Amino acid sequence: MDKIQLPSCPLCKLFLQPKESIKTKLYYPSRIEDLKNVNFCIIECEDCKIPMVVSAEHLDYISDDIWRNSNYQCRKLFGRNVDFRTKQNKLHDHSHYHVIFPNGY
Ligand SMILES: [Zn+2]
Ligand SMILES: [Zn+2]
Repeated sequence: MDKIQLPSCPLCKLFLQPKESIKTKLYYPSRIEDLKNVNFCIIECEDCKIPMVVSAEHLDYISDDIWRNSNYQCRKLFGRNVDFRTKQNKLHDHSHYHVIFPNGY
């Protein structure tokens, strides 16, 4: 499957050049080598220091498929009570969202 990715976009770089671009904790997939096979990843946001879900493609929306799967993975990783902040602060053209912990982190 060909993905829509932009070499200059910092979020696309997580998938295109993971070894150079990932400076924080990668939660999903568990191995950096698997980033080329997934349609989203869960990584600690460098700015907010909380996990965020990033779609593998440079699109401004999250597909239902990614939304469902990433919700499932987040609950598996962080517990049933996690919530999501879909408001995007900086990068509006590449879909991503932050994981919120209602009971504190
Ligand atoms: Zn952030
Ligand atoms: Zn991008």
